[in-house]
Amino acid sequence: MQNPSWIFDPPEELERKVQELAELIRSSSNVVFHTGAGISTASGIPDFRGPNGVWTMEEKGLSPKFDTTFENARPSKTHMALLGLQRVGILKFLVSQNVDGLHVRSGFPRDKLAELHGNMFVEECVKCGKQYVRDAVVGSMGLKPTGRLCSVTKARGLRACRGKLRDTILDWEDSLPDRDLMLADEACRKADLSVTLGTSLQIKPSGNLPLITKKRGGKLVIVNLQATKHDRQADLRIHGYVDEVMTKLMKHLGLEVPEWTGPVVVERAEVAKAEVAQAEVAQAQQLQCPLKEEPLAQQLQCPLKEEPLAQHNGTVLPVPCAGQAPRQRREGLRLECPSPDTGPTPVKKMKVEPLLT
Ligand SMILES: [Zn+2]
Repeated sequence: MQNPSWIFDPPEELERKVQELAELIRSSSNVVFHTGAGISTASGIPDFRGPNGVWTMEEKGLSPKFDTTFENARPSKTHMALLGLQRVGILKFLVSQNVDGLHVRSGFPRDKLAELHGNMFVEECVKCGKQYVRDAVVGSMGLKPTGRLCSVTKARGLRACRGKLRDTILDWEDSLPDRDLMLADEACRKADLSVTLGTSLQIKPSGNLPLITKKRGGKLVIVNLQATKHDRQADLRIHGYVDEVMTKLMKHLGLEVPEWTGPVVVERAEVAKAEVAQAEVAQAQQLQCPLKEEPLAQQLQCPLKEEPLAQHNGTVLPVPCAGQAPRQRREGLRLECPSPDTGPTPVKKMKVEPLLT
């Protein structure tokens, strides 16, 4: 649905601007992208301020509508184009305000990504800080305990950490995760071009990070359908659908938008290819999840055992009883094994709170 406040550049102007963006990218040596909710609307996840956005609907006392569950959402053209730009070395770092997990599930390397407001699929040990990327949303929000325990083994695998795991989704009063904020800040300082996609840049401090690049002599490009807080600072503003802009951009740069073949988690850019290959082998051989310690790389990837799915309009799908034969594995999952002693996640009633933009 179109919003009256949306701005569209006429086709020729859009074309010219995307070409200008391509030239800016070619002449830059360190490009950082920033993404907001606007890049996930094509994946069926509502934005927060749009006509059917989470905030807008909440204000009207209505439940936001989701075209999909988070688990079934597919990364958009924009998510995949960003992955393509990272793979060829153009995109040096990605800063996202999105909590939908689509960057991670697209295979974007986590060490080149700051998720400033958390990730619905990630839980973290309060004791040792180990993060687990799950194949289903972890079931709580606001940095609350998820009910599972950390399975990191200490020296020689003698004892597991067993710290409580909590979700990573920030509430209003929560401060941003140190590591992600630090990496994002550093990336913006080093960048000579910051490009923002689908964010109104209104939330602090996330929305101000692109200005760091600008203040240090770099350039700022804003791609959004609405006016943003920092439009006046921008060297180039593009008003168009992000998927259209990114598809055109990739053409101008002579690059393919990678195909998405299912959720995959890549921890580090350097070993991305090896990890994917390893995961595919593991999947082809139908390996069981080893339940003891993780391999040295702490990268073990294998299909997760059954976890219940939650829909995000407040309804909950039936949870299989213990002992019941698990449903068929979801296709293409290449994620870390869960702790052996946790069992299926009890699904709490989930509703996406209007926390973040
Ligand atoms: Zn731990």
